[in-house]
Amino acid sequence: MRVIGVDIGGTKVAAGLVEANSGSPPVLTARARGPVDPTTNKGGTASILEVVDQVWRDAKSHGSTVAAIGVACAGSVDHHSGVLRRASNMAWIDLGIAEALEARYGVPVTVENDVNAAAWGEAIFGDPDRESSSAIPTIAYITIGTGIGTGAVEGGRIVRGRAGGAGELGHLPGLAGAVDPDAGAVVCSCGARGCVEAVASGPAFASAGQSWARDGRAPGLVEASHGDLSRIDASMITRLATAGDTDALQLVAREGRFIAQTIAVAWRAYAPDVIVLGGGVMNAGDVMLSAVQNGLSNLAVSGPSRLRECSSWVLASRLGDDAGVIGAGALVVVRPAS
Ligand SMILES: [Zn+2]
Repeated sequence: MRVIGVDIGGTKVAAGLVEANSGSPPVLTARARGPVDPTTNKGGTASILEVVDQVWRDAKSHGSTVAAIGVACAGSVDHHSGVLRRASNMAWIDLGIAEALEARYGVPVTVENDVNAAAWGEAIFGDPDRESSSAIPTIAYITIGTGIGTGAVEGGRIVRGRAGGAGELGHLPGLAGAVDPDAGAVVCSCGARGCVEAVASGPAFASAGQSWARDGRAPGLVEASHGDLSRIDASMITRLATAGDTDALQLVAREGRFIAQTIAVAWRAYAPDVIVLGGGVMNAGDVMLSAVQNGLSNLAVSGPSRLRECSSWVLASRLGDDAGVIGAGALVVVRPAS
C-alpha cells in the first residue's frame, strides 16, 4: 500500500511516499520539502500543495497508485472534518486542509495534530519486531523540542479528551517543582507556574546552559561557544556531555530529571506498554536517554520496580528524522478507531 505523508511545521512542509507492506518496516521514497507560507490561509494552502504536488507527480511517474493522504500539523485540528482550527506559530485560522487536498487529488485525506500523528506512527511502525496482525500497543509519546507535547494511543485509538486537549503533560502546573523548587516558581507561556515545558523544552534547556556559562559554572560551554553564549543550544550541551564535560553532564542530568518526572506521570496516567521519546532534544542519542532512565531509576529507589526497569520500555523513537512524514502516513495506512 502506498500513501503520501505530509508533515506541516512552523517553517516547512515535508512530504513523502510511504510504502507499507505487511511484515516489513515502512519505506519512504519521493521525498519533497519546501517553505511554508504562515501568513494567510490562501498562501498556506498553496505552499502545502506545491510540496505534495512534487510527491504526487513523482509517484505517478513511477506508476504508483496513491491510496490516501495523511497530514500532520502543529496546532488544534478537527480530525473529523480535516480542518486546522488554529495553527501553532502560524496565522492560519480554520484552514480546510482535507478539503483542499481531496479536491485536488481525489483520494481520502486524514488530518491530525502532529504529536498525535507521531504517537500513532510509533504505535503502528515504531517497533520493527511487532507483527502487523498483533494488537496495537498502548503507548505514550513525548516530544521534547520547541515545546513538550504528549500523545497517547490506547485500544487502537488516539486518546483525545475534550477538544483534543488530553495529555498536555508539559503543562502540568507545579510538576517541575518536584525536581527543583526554583523551577516550580517559573511562569510558563500558558500562564501557569512550574510547567515542565517552561524549564525543559529545547529553548529552556539551552537557556539553562547559557545561564550556567554566564555564572562561571560551565567553562566548557564558554569555550565551545567561543564566548558568544547565545550560540549555546541543546545540541552543543549534549555534544559536550557525550565528550565527558562534567558541567554539561550535570545539565543533561538535570534535563533528564525533568523528563523523567513527566514520564512518571504518563506511566501512571496511561499504564502504557512503552513510552517513546522524540523531538530535537532526544536527537542527542544515548547521553540524554541514559539521563532520563537514571532520573526514572532515582524516582524509584525502593519503589515500583517498573520504573527501575525503565530501560526496557522507555525508548527513543526509532523512526528517526522521517518520523513526522511516516507518522502522517501511518494515519491512513491503519486508521485510528474513532
Ligand atoms: Zn505551561
